[in-house]
Amino acid sequence: MNQRHSTEAAQRPLAIGIDVGGTHIRVSIVENLCVLDGLRQSPTSAFSSASQFFDWLSDSINQLCDLHKCRSRVTSIGMGLPGVLDEPKERLLRSINVPYLEGVALSDDLSRKTNLPVTLMTDAEAATWGAYANLSPKPDRFVHLRFGTGIACGCIRDSKIKPLIRIGQEHLRMLVVDETASAKPCACGLRGCLETIASGKALLHVIQAHGLTLNVAALQEGYVRGDAWCQKLCAEVASSIICAISSVCRELQPDEISIGGGVAKHWPAMIDVVLRDAEKTFTDNKLPMPRIMKTPADDESGVIGAAYLSLQA
Ligand SMILES: [Zn+2]
Repeated sequence: MNQRHSTEAAQRPLAIGIDVGGTHIRVSIVENLCVLDGLRQSPTSAFSSASQFFDWLSDSINQLCDLHKCRSRVTSIGMGLPGVLDEPKERLLRSINVPYLEGVALSDDLSRKTNLPVTLMTDAEAATWGAYANLSPKPDRFVHLRFGTGIACGCIRDSKIKPLIRIGQEHLRMLVVDETASAKPCACGLRGCLETIASGKALLHVIQAHGLTLNVAALQEGYVRGDAWCQKLCAEVASSIICAISSVCRELQPDEISIGGGVAKHWPAMIDVVLRDAEKTFTDNKLPMPRIMKTPADDESGVIGAAYLSLQA
């Protein structure tokens, strides 16, 4: 690297990306859509109050800035949160996974602690931007479906997040996949949400009831060794996801859909079934088929997207 390039690189603004998920919280410094070494991570369950959460965040940010000797180049913080945000995007109204952050003045408090502007967004928006930012060429209409502890869906149309219409705190109606009388009730108040079938939380309930090791990777292992119950469950979950993807396509007409999250990571065989079987459903229903793919470098989507949006704010 010559002198001029190294000077430009040294002056490029950096952003902190924070991804608060249902299972993990990740913090990193992001430069030009890349996560710098030393990403900090904690289980979400490690905290039970906002003050514990803020102390850990401040320590993590300070450690990362010291590691890279870059405090003066960090210009913003972006934070993705699991739940429903208020309209000015300053507080979390409701969150099943981090209830101790509900109602807290998150952007003001973190901004005061760090002396940096803070942009809040949902975890779905952060992951969607993270998945979209690295695509080349960029599709006009893009959807990210995220199978983590819960299920999130984000849409970018013409380089902007498209707000998805939901009623109150219910899950998206287009992600209701079971309308039969036996549809499972969902914590959101609806019945038959994809959340009750394909979220990490729902799958762990099923795994526990069946007596397998309590993690989603057990479903992958069972599938690979040819276990009949695992193969049947895989087919059922994949079929529900394809049903949801069909509804998403009717409503949002995406050119491209990326699939990410912990369930996709630990149970790749199930996503392979989705990718393999979706085309038949689309052909049968005479729906235009979007490109569907697994999200590359998916673990980092949330922090990259959060940092990226904070720099645009
Ligand atoms: Zn629901």
